[in-house]
Amino acid sequence: MDELLQRARRFRKEGFLERAELYRDLETSQQPHTMFICCSDSRLDPARIVGSEPGEIFVVRNVANTVPEWAEGGDQTGDRAAIEFAVLVLRVARIVVMGHAGCGGCAALSAPETDFADLPNLRAWCADQRGLEGSTPEEIEKANVHRQLDRLRGYPMIAERLTRGELALGGWYYTIATGEIVECG
Ligand SMILES: [Zn+2]
Repeated sequence: MDELLQRARRFRKEGFLERAELYRDLETSQQPHTMFICCSDSRLDPARIVGSEPGEIFVVRNVANTVPEWAEGGDQTGDRAAIEFAVLVLRVARIVVMGHAGCGGCAALSAPETDFADLPNLRAWCADQRGLEGSTPEEIEKANVHRQLDRLRGYPMIAERLTRGELALGGWYYTIATGEIVECG
């Protein structure tokens, strides 16, 4: 933990100071142009990948970049709330769902339940997410991106804005080993 605190203090002296004026401007409001929905995987960082500055992208990260199906209420994770906020309050122009190669969450969907005997929450998550078509990990990971885009289209406020051309949805697939991004949705 000490090492992380040292890095955070170094950030205050270096990276922060380089953008001190920007951070001051961002103190009371934000106007990100894009929402990213990404996997929690430690090997990818959307801000680094797209070279965004603070305040540019609004990010939700969870297991396998998933989108909860539309419902009103009962949002314990806050993911639906974040999507609602991004669209209705921040008025982002686009939402990108970014899947990736070697996704452990997608791999878990093909693994036997017995592998997660001691992981009741991961087991329950898998039960909710199964049914993706594909015979290779990449096909399953890309099918997962398509599924999340379909779920986003099921949000009434998103459907309305897509119809009016006020919002765009994108699916990206990121390969960790090469840095390649391909569109997949
Ligand atoms: Zn992943």
